[in-house]
Amino acid sequence: MTDRIRIFDTTLRDGEQSPGCSMNLAEKLALARQLERLGVDVIEAGFPIASEGDWESVRRIAEQVRGTAICGLARTGKLDIERAAEALEPAAHPRIHTFIATSDIHLEHKLRMSREQVIDEVARAVQQARGHVDDVEFSAEDATRSDRDYLVQVFSVALDAGASTLNVPDTVGYTTPAEYAALIGYLMEKIPGSERAVFSVHCHNDLGLAVSNSLSAAVAGARQIECTVNGIGERAGNTSMEEVVMSLKTRRDVFEGLDTGIQTREIYPSSRLLTSITGVQVQPNKAIVGDNAFAHEAGIHQDGVLKAAITYEIMTPESIGRASNELVLGKHSGRHAFRDRLEELCLDVQGDEFERAFKRFKDLADAKKTIYNEDLEAIVADSSIATDDRFERVELTITSGNATAPMASVSLMVDGTVQKTVATGVGPVDAIFKAITMLTGTESELIKYQVHAVTAGLDAQGEVSVTIEEDGRRVIGNGVHEDVMVASGKAYVAAINKLEWHRHRHGTNEPKGI
Ligand code: MN
Repeated sequence: MTDRIRIFDTTLRDGEQSPGCSMNLAEKLALARQLERLGVDVIEAGFPIASEGDWESVRRIAEQVRGTAICGLARTGKLDIERAAEALEPAAHPRIHTFIATSDIHLEHKLRMSREQVIDEVARAVQQARGHVDDVEFSAEDATRSDRDYLVQVFSVALDAGASTLNVPDTVGYTTPAEYAALIGYLMEKIPGSERAVFSVHCHNDLGLAVSNSLSAAVAGARQIECTVNGIGERAGNTSMEEVVMSLKTRRDVFEGLDTGIQTREIYPSSRLLTSITGVQVQPNKAIVGDNAFAHEAGIHQDGVLKAAITYEIMTPESIGRASNELVLGKHSGRHAFRDRLEELCLDVQGDEFERAFKRFKDLADAKKTIYNEDLEAIVADSSIATDDRFERVELTITSGNATAPMASVSLMVDGTVQKTVATGVGPVDAIFKAITMLTGTESELIKYQVHAVTAGLDAQGEVSVTIEEDGRRVIGNGVHEDVMVASGKAYVAAINKLEWHRHRHGTNEPKGI
C-alpha cells in the first residue's frame, strides 16, 4: 500500500450543486485549469446526463485540461454511462464514476429496488463503463447508512466487474471518525482482492466532521479523498481540500507519512479564484483560507511571531501561496514589472488575458495609490474569464446624494450593439439596476447584494456580489472595481449573463449526484 493520497476534486460537480455556486462554461474551464496547476489527481468535471450545459463543460474540460484525470459522473443507467463516455472521449485520462444507492432507506424510498436488483445493476453498469474506459470508479451512495455485509457484496461485484476505485460516500454527513475508519477497515478486510482497489472517501459536513472523517479513513487505509475548494457543496458542504491537504502536510508525523501531490502554494490562488467566480465569500475564521486564518501576524501574538514564527505559527502563509500585504506596484510600473509580479504570485496570464489585465492594472494605478497582491489577484480573476456573453462592457454615470433624485445613465453592449438608457431609483444602486433591467429585459428577482473590500484602505477596490433568481435557479454575479457603483453594475450584468447561459443549457428537475 502506498502512502500517496489521491486528491479527487469535485468542486465542479458536487460543489456546483450547492445553491448560488453554479458556473458557466468559461468559469468552469478557468477553474479546471487552476485545479490542474494545483496538482489534483482527478477533476470531477460534471454529471454529463444532467444537462446539455454539464455535458458540454465535461467535454471542453476533457479537451483542454490534459495533465489530470477528468471524471464524469453517471448513474448506473445505460444512457447515463453513454453520455458520460461521449463527453469524456477527448480526455487524455478519462474516468467514469458510476453510482447507485445501497442503504435500505434509499432502496425502499427512492429506488424501489431489491438488494439483488441493485447488485445486478452494479455489475452491468461497471462492465458497460469498462467497455469505454480503463479507469472506472464505483460509489455506493449512502454507504454509511448501508448494511456492512451488503456493502461487502456490492463492492466485490464492482471490483470483479472492473472498477479500480471503490468509493464509500457519507452522502448525508452522518458518520463519525472512529465509525468511518472501522467501516473502511472492515471493507478492506472482507472484500476479496481488495488490495487491487483504491478505497475512496466522500464526506459531507453536516455535523462539521467531513475533514476529520476523511483523515480517519485515510489512516485506516483509504487512498483517495474526494473534496472541494473552500469546502463548498450540498448543504453544509463537502470535505475542504485545503484543510485535508494542510493537515496531512503539517502533521506528517501523526499521519504516518501520508502525503498528496498538491502544490500547496496554489491553494490560496485556487480559493480566491473560486470566490471571485461564485461570489460566495469564505467565512473569516475558515481554516487555511479565511481572512483571519493567519491574523496573529497583526494580533496579540504578534510580538511572539515577530521574535520567532514558530511560537504561534504551525505553517506559514507563504506555504499556501498567501503573499503578505506589501506594496507591490505603483502607477509607474510597466508591463515587465507587472508580468514579473504576476509570475511571483503564480498567476499565469497570457495573450489577450494579459493585455486586459494590464489595462485594468494601469486604470487602477491611476485611481489608487497603493496596489496590493490581492488587487492583482482580483484583476487577474476579473480579466481571465473570456466569455461569449450576450451582455458586455457596462459603462455608467450616476448622480446621487441627499439633495437630488438618484439617477443612473447606463450603456451596455447587447448582442454586439451598444444600447443606452437612463433610470431613477431609491438610491444609486437601485437606479443602476433598473437601467440594466431595462436594457437586458431580465425578469429575475434580486435576492442579495453584498459589498466586500478587496484590501484594507479607503481607496480599496470593492468586490460586489449580486444574487438573483429566476424560475427557481439562483446565480451569483461578481464585479470588482475601485468604484463600488461600477463594480455593482458589473456584478449585476455578470449575474444576468449567468442566468442566460443556464437558461439555454439546463432543463428543469435535473438529477443530482452522490
Ligand atoms: Mn456529495
